[in-house]
Amino acid sequence: MRPEILFPLFAPIATLKGVGPRVAPLLERVAGPLVRDVLWLKPHSIVRRTPGVLSGAVDGQVMTFVVTIDAYQKARTRTQPTRVRVTDDTGFMTLVFFGRFGDDLERRHPVGEKRVISGKVEDDRFGRQMVHPDYMLAPDKAGEIPEVEAIYPATEGLPPRRVRTFVDEAEARAPDLPEWLDPAWKAQERFPSWREALHALHAPRSEADLALACPHRRRLAYDELLAHQLAMAQRKAARRREPAARITPGGLASRIRADLPFAFTDAQERALSDIRADFAAGERMSRLVQGDVGSGKTVVAMCAMADVAECGGQSALMAPTEILARQHFETISGPLADHGVDVVLLTGRDKGAGRAEKLRALASGSAKVAVGTHALFQDDVAFDKLELVVIDEQHRFGVAERQRLQGKGRAVHLIAMSATPIPRTLELTMYGDLDVSRIDQKPPGRTPVATRAVPIGRLDEIVGRLKQAVAGGAQAFWICPLVSESEVSDLAAAEMRAVALRETLGPGVGLVHGKMSGAEKDAVMADFADGRVPVLVATTVVEVGVNVPNATIMVIEQAERFGLAQLHQLRGRVGRGSRESACVLLYDPPLSETAQQRLDILRRTDDGFVIAEKDLELRGGGDALGLRQSGLPDYVFADPFAHRDLISVAGDDARLIVNRDPGLTSERGKALQVLQELFDWKAGLALRDAG
Ligand code: ADP
Ligand code: MG
Repeated sequence: MRPEILFPLFAPIATLKGVGPRVAPLLERVAGPLVRDVLWLKPHSIVRRTPGVLSGAVDGQVMTFVVTIDAYQKARTRTQPTRVRVTDDTGFMTLVFFGRFGDDLERRHPVGEKRVISGKVEDDRFGRQMVHPDYMLAPDKAGEIPEVEAIYPATEGLPPRRVRTFVDEAEARAPDLPEWLDPAWKAQERFPSWREALHALHAPRSEADLALACPHRRRLAYDELLAHQLAMAQRKAARRREPAARITPGGLASRIRADLPFAFTDAQERALSDIRADFAAGERMSRLVQGDVGSGKTVVAMCAMADVAECGGQSALMAPTEILARQHFETISGPLADHGVDVVLLTGRDKGAGRAEKLRALASGSAKVAVGTHALFQDDVAFDKLELVVIDEQHRFGVAERQRLQGKGRAVHLIAMSATPIPRTLELTMYGDLDVSRIDQKPPGRTPVATRAVPIGRLDEIVGRLKQAVAGGAQAFWICPLVSESEVSDLAAAEMRAVALRETLGPGVGLVHGKMSGAEKDAVMADFADGRVPVLVATTVVEVGVNVPNATIMVIEQAERFGLAQLHQLRGRVGRGSRESACVLLYDPPLSETAQQRLDILRRTDDGFVIAEKDLELRGGGDALGLRQSGLPDYVFADPFAHRDLISVAGDDARLIVNRDPGLTSERGKALQVLQELFDWKAGLALRDAG
C-alpha cells in the first residue's frame, strides 16, 4: 500500500494549477501522468540573463534591459505583429508581438512607462529586436527575473517556461521524506537530502549543476539504483526460499561428453559447475548463461539436461525460431539418445497423430527432454515431471511465455541463455535477480573473421569479389537492415538488393525476411544451409544463432545503423569452420567519429565482452538505445555509464539490507519502503520477472 506521505506526488498532473484538458496531454507527453513525473523532469540546459544597455545588445544573447516604452506600431493585418519601440539613454530596440500577444499591450504597458524586459536579442533586417520578451515587468518587480533559469524539455504548444512553472509547483508539493540512505555512506558522498537534491536539480546556478557527476544528481541516481537493486534482491531471496528438486548427477553427462569430438573449454566447465552447485542446493535456480555465439552454451545446457534426466526428471529447451529449435535438436538429440535419453522436437509444424504421439511421450515421461518453439508452452502440452527449463535467446521471449512453460512443473529450475554479452558494470542492473555465468572463451580452432569497413560507393567492387568467391564455392550472408519507419519499404529494399545481386551472381541468391512464414523461412534457410543457394540476402532474421558452417562471408549494409553488439552477433554467423572468413561493413559516408570508432573496435577484436564494454564507453551512456533494447531499465536519473560506480554499491547495499532486515521493519527499512513506492519498481519488475 502506498504511504500517505506520497499521495501528493502520485496525484494526476491535472491537479496542478494551470493544467487543464488542453495542457494535460501535452505535459503528460513531456513528463508523465503524475505530479511525481513533473517533479522528476530534468533541466537540459540553463539560460543566463545578462544585464545590459541597448547599445550593448548582442545578437543571439539572452539579456535584460531597463527601458522606456516609446511608441506603438499596431498591426494593420491579422498576420502582422504589433511592434513596440523602446529606448534607454544609449539607443533603441523593437519588441515584436504576434497574434493575440499584441492585444491589450498598450493598456498594460503605456507609452512613457519604464519596464524591465528580458529575452533573446535578434538582429535582422528590421534592426535590433526582441520577439516576445520572456519578461516585461515594472521596475519594482525586477527581482522576479532570475539571473539563471533552468530550461526543461518542451513540446509543441507547451513552451519550456510553462513547463518550468509546473515543475515549480510540483516541487512545492514535494514532502520531506524519511532518510533511507545509510548515514555513513551519505556523509562520505556528501549527498544532500532527497528534498534538497530535488531543489538543487531545479535551481541550477551554472552548467556544472547540470552534470551527472554533481552530488545532487548522484544522490537521485543512487536512490533509483537502490530501489531497483532492492527489488531484485528481494525477489532473488524469495526464490531461494522456494524448495526445488535437488539434482545430484551420476556419470551420465560424463559418458555423453566422452563421446563428443571435443573437450569443454575452461569457461564451459565453470558454467556447468555453477549450474551443478545450484542443482545440489535444493533451491530454485535462475541462472543466466551469457556467451558469444558459438561459445558452446548449448552443450553445457545439454549436460544439465542429462543430469536432470538421470535423476528421473524432464527438461524443456525453448528457442525463438523453428530453425533454431531444429538445430538444437540436431545438436543434442544424438548424444542424448545414444545414452538412452529420448528427445522430442515440438514445433508449430507438428500436427495430428505425430503431434499426439509426442505429447504422449512427454506426458508419460518416456521422453525426458523436449526441444521446441512456442509450441512447447501451449495448453495441451503436459509433462510428467518437468524440472528444468532452458530458454535460448531469452530476450526474445516475454516473461509470460517463460512463466507458462515453467508453470508446467513445480518450482522448475531455469537456465536462460543469451548471446548478447553484457558489460560487467551493467550485469547487476539487467540481471540483478539472476545468477550469472559467463562463457568468455571460444572453443579452440576458430579462425578470426577478417573485418573491413567499406563505403557503399565501392559496392560494385565488393559484388565483383563476391562473385569470384562464390565461383570458388564460398557462401555469403548479405544483411539489409530494418531502419525506416515502415517495414514494407525496408523489405522492398532487401528485395531490390536480391534482384540486383541476381543480375551479377545469377539465380543462386535467396531472400529471407521477417514477414515470411516459419515454413517459408525454413525452406530458404535449408537451401542455404545445404549449399544449393550460395548467397542469402536477409533482413536481420538471421540474427539469432543460426549455424551454417560453410558460410564464410558476411556483408552488412548500412553497418553504421546497427548497434555494436548486433554487428558482433551478425559477424558471429561466419568463421565457424576452419576456413578463412570475411566480414564487410558497408557504410554510407561520411561516418561520424563515434561510428568510425565503433567500426574500428569490431575490426580489432572479436571478444563480445570487450566489445560490449567499449560500446558502453563510446555511448557514454547517452545513447543507450541498443542497451535498452537488450533489456536495460529505463532509468530516470541513473546513467548506466556515468553512475556505474554507484551500481555496485547499490547492489551491495541492497543485499545487506535483505540479509539484515528482510521484512524492512527497522527505521531505515520503513524509509526504504517509501523509496520503493516512490520509484514504483515493484510494479515495473513484475513485468520482467525472470523467475
Ligand atoms: P552457442 O549456443 O553458444 O552459440 P553452441 O553450443 O551451439 O554455441 O556451439 C557451437 C558449435 O561449437 C557447436 O557445433 C558445438 O558442437 C561446438 N562446440 C561446443 N563446445 C565446443 C568445444 N569446447 N570445442 C569445440 N567445439 C565446441
Ligand atoms: Mg546458441
